[in-house]
Amino acid sequence: MTERLALFGARPAFDPPLRFVRPPVPPLDEVVARLRPGYETGALTNGPLVRELEEGVAHRLGVRHVIATASCTTGLMLVFRALGELAPAGEIPGEVLMPSFTFSASAHAVAWCGRRPRFAECDERTFQLDLRDARRRAAGGGVGAVLATHVFGAPCDPPGVESLAADLAVPVVFDAAHGLGATHRARPLGGFGTAEVFSLTPTKPLVAGEGGLVTTGDDELATLVRIGRDYANPGDYDTQFVGLNGRMSEFHAAVALASFATLDAHLEERRAIAGEYERAMCTIPGVALQHVDSSDRSTYKDLTIAVDPDEYGLTRDQLVTVLHAEGVDTRNYFDPPVHRQRAHRIPEPLPVTERVASRVVSLPIYPALPPRTAERIAAIVESARRDAGRIHTFLGGDGQVSTVGPDGEMSPAVANPQV
Ligand SMILES: *Cc1c(COP(=O)(O)O)cnc(C)c1O
Repeated sequence: MTERLALFGARPAFDPPLRFVRPPVPPLDEVVARLRPGYETGALTNGPLVRELEEGVAHRLGVRHVIATASCTTGLMLVFRALGELAPAGEIPGEVLMPSFTFSASAHAVAWCGRRPRFAECDERTFQLDLRDARRRAAGGGVGAVLATHVFGAPCDPPGVESLAADLAVPVVFDAAHGLGATHRARPLGGFGTAEVFSLTPTKPLVAGEGGLVTTGDDELATLVRIGRDYANPGDYDTQFVGLNGRMSEFHAAVALASFATLDAHLEERRAIAGEYERAMCTIPGVALQHVDSSDRSTYKDLTIAVDPDEYGLTRDQLVTVLHAEGVDTRNYFDPPVHRQRAHRIPEPLPVTERVASRVVSLPIYPALPPRTAERIAAIVESARRDAGRIHTFLGGDGQVSTVGPDGEMSPAVANPQV
């Protein structure tokens, strides 16, 4: 009972094609209404709307300090810079123990602050930092901080990461870019570790256009990050350290505030869609959704599956070609993993991370999806599994479409480059 696949010339399941993301933009009128009063007085950056956003988020997450920044990357850079300032004089800051299975910006921020990442493996089911492997890699000494990412909006066992950092007697920073609104055992992300940093860029659950939020319970760190985003000028132009212009503008805060008002409703919809994917995909051999602990709530910033090629019968790349032909846009988050990227390449392999990276693919998840999208995508994934033999012949081993198929038919993915 296989449906005919678009790869073999059938009409694509999604026509027009399904976009990978649709940012949850708030109504423009609302944004303008929030912006107008300050705008007319010339308050354009780091003003009352930014304060309102910081206070609103601090209240919601139950954290002492929230500092809005121009982006999450900037926020991470400011945190690592501030941690360097807080270290005892003469102390060498040391490497940052962190996963390679994260977005490049986590490592970029570390490197911009003159620190080196020390990459550790991720867990095969959760895709989160593998704490046992991280502990092993820290054993040689020389680690000055730990960074862990809440991958795809699911908490990364924050207490486990905290206890690793405590044993090493170093600060711990969470890259919470995906995580605004997620909880670990009913505790919101934002309150863990030395600091956490959220992103408000359009692909994330709360959007500002661009923006970041640093959360911390540490008064000294908060002061340094706050000064740091303003060139590290404490107010008298006698700059205290090498800062940045890392401020958030009032325009961005207006968008973020309007978006914040609907965050819970938005997250509920994402979780409902994730549930649909789970139900529709759980019976497909060789395909597994990211494992999220039952006591945690993810934001599902991404809905990511891992494809085991032996069990499923096709590689991730072959499945992606099938999906693209059906009009389903996808992303291979995070492939290549950071340690395989030119900016951060290391000679040693990280076999688990590389295996995971070669198997993952993120599927569309946002409230504006057409009805039954998850079910329809799962049906394609299942059809492709049943047709694996034919797809193999058609695509060749590398998952790339050969120009001409076995029966001499032209692949639509080649004939029609936008799919
Ligand atoms: C998006 C992202 C960032 C960067 O956020 P910006 O706001 O774009 O700087 C950092 N880390 C992770 C894990 C991300 O996904």
